[in-house]
Amino acid sequence: MADGTTTLAELKEAMRRFVAERQWEPFHSPKNLAMALAAEAGELLEHFLWVEGPASYRLADAAEQREAIADELADVAGQLLNLCNVLGIDLSDAMTAKRAKNARKYPPRIEPQG
Ligand SMILES: [Mg+2]
Repeated sequence: MADGTTTLAELKEAMRRFVAERQWEPFHSPKNLAMALAAEAGELLEHFLWVEGPASYRLADAAEQREAIADELADVAGQLLNLCNVLGIDLSDAMTAKRAKNARKYPPRIEPQG
């Protein structure tokens, strides 16, 4: 399941199925999932804590560290998709709408291409 060949719908369905197979739905209130999302973001941040900005670019160069960071990114994304599933929010629509708001709030410094 690589980014170039996997749809967001497939990932959301994979997360829904993973949760259902373990009967975790009773624990997945929006409040709990929002907290889990923040907790996973904190676990991701731990890898970068106290690392200087330039060095942070090289943090994922070593295979073991790269896998640990990828694991946390996957946890963040998984909780995000779980929360979207429970709230019935279409993430693609939400991102498109928010990007339009941000484009109005932060006009481009250069003319958009294409
Ligand atoms: Mg984690």
